[in-house]
Amino acid sequence: MEVTCRCGWIIRGSRSEVIRGVQSHARSEHGTELTPGEVRAVWRVADQAPASGGRPGAGK
Ligand SMILES: [Zn+2]
Repeated sequence: MEVTCRCGWIIRGSRSEVIRGVQSHARSEHGTELTPGEVRAVWRVADQAPASGGRPGAGK
């Protein structure tokens, strides 16, 4: 999968890899410690977009 940070930074890899990568990126670039749940809240997944787009902030 591929995800994009709110700042435009992109990482690709498995789900666990990108979660760790985003946590590391947030720590070094944003000075923020993120939990995996917070990572999923801030990233934008660029892989396998749903058939019908246009649902900003969707998710549970
Ligand atoms: Zn960022």
